Parts: sequence; structure tokens; C-alpha cells
Amino acid sequence: MIPKYDIVILGAGLIGSSIAYHLSQAAKKENHRFGVAVLDVDLEGRYSASELNAGGARAEWWQSVNIELSKATLSFLAKDPVQFGFRQKGYLWLYDAKGWQDYLLHKDLYRRHELSIEELSPKEVQRRAPFLDRLQGVYAATFSPSDGLFNPNLLKQFFRSEAKKENVQFMDGARVIEIETSAKNVGVQYQDLMSERGHPNPDHVFQILSQKNGTFHYPTKKINTDMLINAAGVWSSALASLYGHEVVCLPVRRQISLFDCQGLDLSPYGMIVDTSGLYVHAEGDHILGGFAIPQEPVGFNFQYDGDLFFEEQIWPRFYERVSRAQALKHLKGWAGLYSVTKDRSGILGQVKGEPRIYEAHSFTGRGAMQSYGVGLAVSELVLKGKAICMDITSLHPDRFRKPHGKLLYEGMHI
Ligand SMILES: Cc1cc2nc3c(=O)[nH]c(=O)nc-3n(C[C@H](O)[C@H](O)[C@H](O)COP(=O)(O)OP(=O)(O)OC[C@H]3O[C@@H](n4cnc5c(N)ncnc54)[C@H](O)[C@@H]3O)c2cc1C
Repeated sequence: MIPKYDIVILGAGLIGSSIAYHLSQAAKKENHRFGVAVLDVDLEGRYSASELNAGGARAEWWQSVNIELSKATLSFLAKDPVQFGFRQKGYLWLYDAKGWQDYLLHKDLYRRHELSIEELSPKEVQRRAPFLDRLQGVYAATFSPSDGLFNPNLLKQFFRSEAKKENVQFMDGARVIEIETSAKNVGVQYQDLMSERGHPNPDHVFQILSQKNGTFHYPTKKINTDMLINAAGVWSSALASLYGHEVVCLPVRRQISLFDCQGLDLSPYGMIVDTSGLYVHAEGDHILGGFAIPQEPVGFNFQYDGDLFFEEQIWPRFYERVSRAQALKHLKGWAGLYSVTKDRSGILGQVKGEPRIYEAHSFTGRGAMQSYGVGLAVSELVLKGKAICMDITSLHPDRFRKPHGKLLYEGMHI
């Protein structure tokens, strides 16, 4: 007999785990049991963005829905900062003259959303952060004290463990390969990577998730469900093609370096974003620095370029602001993938013509900080037919369809 669930979620990153958590909480509240399963080819998430991100959380975005989704997560993190490793030490954002004009254009939006933002002159920046002793080209800055840094892994583990208490099943080594829709249900076929050793073979996981053309012979299994939620991050468009939905979200590599700077301790500060796009923050006893190379080609590339990336992209930008950065020690780094849509906003909604299928993915560089809000909105959409907590209609996958689709261009994307 084919196992049947009420709801199946594809992908157990922060987004899939948050949706599972919110569904489980709704079931608990209403004293109603749904059968929910979350399938992932690798629950450890070795290549998932949820494992490889920078842990920043802020509410300033150019689009209301992006602000609301982030605010919901920030409020949740603030309820128990210790549990989620939330260091609410703010975002210090340095602007050049052009960036400042963009900021001013969005000031009303921030006011409407009641975001607390202080405006700083370069002198005030230097007073607050004396190590930033070279501020050429910095026109002004903002400091948003409610933002900060958190540990996404602790948040994901929380979502999962709470969902498991309500009997949500997390299925490891489940590589989804076929999806059939009918009027009665959705059939999901997957290869069972657990069958060989009791855990997924890391080499196979790498080949599968970096989309190398390997053939793997694992037993296939099938489950049926009433509702399917595609939350497979950068792999969502490949899964969407299995039910015939064309959605364009591109994999773009982002690299992060860890380094030391002559005993410089950034732990009193939250995230610092430079005019150049470089962002830095304290990471344990070290400094984490990230930068998005503008001409980065699209592709499933998880390779960290090591010294080359650090010396060409991180070091010169940091030295441009911090004179003591003439000597830095590069320790290590890593690369992960952003899932990038045409307008750089995420995708959230029911698939047109497929009443049993929903999508929640492609949150570029903000999926960790939006995960709580996304999970809540999707659970309401699936259970009540509409998101009650906020209006998410502008993120519907149909917005990319011409001639009526309205794009939601997000410019605060780094
Ligand atoms: C370098 C970097 C820095 C970032 N910094 C930040 C930041 O500071 N703040 C922030 O908020 N966001 C940041 N992000 C973005 C954030 O990490 C992502 O938006 C978020 O983690 C996406 O979560 P997700 O659950 O949608 O996807 P993922 O975490 O990628 O999860 C998708 C899951 O789908 C599974 N899967 C794929 N294919 C299949 C299949 N066929 N069958 C079954 N399972 C499958 C994968 O194994 C994976 O576990 C950063 C991202 C990167 C790469």
C-alpha cells in the first residue's frame, strides 16, 4: 500500500522546516492531526543555503512584503535570543552619495513599517566604530538597532524538533524524481538513498545537488499526498518542472571568508555593510567577510576560490576602510548558492492550474531572516486558503507571466 499524507513538503532547509513547524503548531492549536512529511535528499543540508549562509537578519528592504517577512522572523528571534544565538547588535550600513539617494527614497516606507533607523554622518560612524578609520567616499550611514546576527542552524533545529513532537516525519536520503498530479492526489516518487548504508552517500549527495550527470541505482519509493509544497531552495525549479511548472530561479554562487585582523574584535558590533558591497561581522573569535562578485556566472558551483577570492575581493575592500587591515590572516571560507529570481524577490503561492501544489522558495540572500514569516504565511495559505498574518499576494509565482504580471524588484539585495 502506498503511504498517504495530508501534506508533503519538498526540502528541509529553513523554509521547509519552518513550514513544517507552523503546520504542526496549527494542528496542535486546533487539536487536529495532519499527516505531514518533509522529504530531503540530505537532511544534514551539506549544500543547502540554510547551512552555508552568513546569519544576518534585518528588516530594511525596498518591498513591503520583504520587510514584513523579515520583521516576523526578527520578532520571533527576539523572544528567545539565547536559544537562537541572536545578537541584536544592529546593522551599520555605509552609503555613498548614490546609495544615500536610494535610502532617502525608501525612508517613508521604513517609517510606515515603524523601523527604527538612526542616520549617521561619517564622523558619527567613526565615533561609534573607531576601527573604521578610512571613510573616503562614505556620504552617510544608517544604524538599525533591532537587526542583528543569529545562528540559522539553531533556528532550523528548533523548527524540526518542535515539528517532530507533533509527529511530522522528516525523511532523509529521499531524492524526489517524479511528481504526478491528478484530481485525487499528488504522487511523489523518490529514490531512497538510505537503503545502501543507512545514511546518504556524501559523494552521491554532492553529485546530485551540484547537478552532475551521474546515474544512481537506488530503490524507488512512492508516497501520495493531498497537498504538496515545493520548498527546495535553488533546486525548486528542477522539481517544479516535474509537475510541469516553469519557474525561473537561477543558482548563483556566493562566497564567504573567515579571517583575523591583528586582534580586531568585531563582537561589539552587528553586521557592517560597506559602500562596496562587502559585509563583515564577528564570527566566533574571527571575522566573517562576504562579497557578491557582480559577474558571477550562473551555475551549481560550490567551490570556494580560497586565497584568490580573499585577496581579490575581501582584503582590498576591508583595507579601504580599516588601516590596520594591512596585515590579515585568511583562515578558510566556503561557497553556497543564492536562488535568484528575475526581480530578486522570493516566490510564494499556489501554482496556477495545480490547486494541490504550492511553492515557497528563492529568497536570494534573505531566506534565513524570512524563514519564520514564510513558514507562518504558507501554513495559513495551505490550511485557510489565504495568508492572514500578512499580504503575500505580490510574491505569487504568476507575477513573471506577461502581460499582466507585476515584478517586485528588490534592490537591497547584497
Ligand atoms: C553565502 C550565503 C550567505 C547568505 N547569507 C544570508 C544572510 O545573512 N541572511 C539570510 O537571511 N539569508 C542568507 N542567505 C540566504 C539563505 O541562506 C537562503 O535564502 C535560505 O537558507 C534558503 O532556505 P531554503 O530552505 O529555501 O533552501 P535550502 O536551505 O537550500 O534547502 C533546500 C533543500 O532542498 C533539498 N533538495 C534539493 N533537491 C532535492 C530533491 N530532488 N529531493 C529532495 N530534496 C531536495 C536540499 O538538500 C536542501 O536541503 C545566504 C545564502 C548564501 C548561499
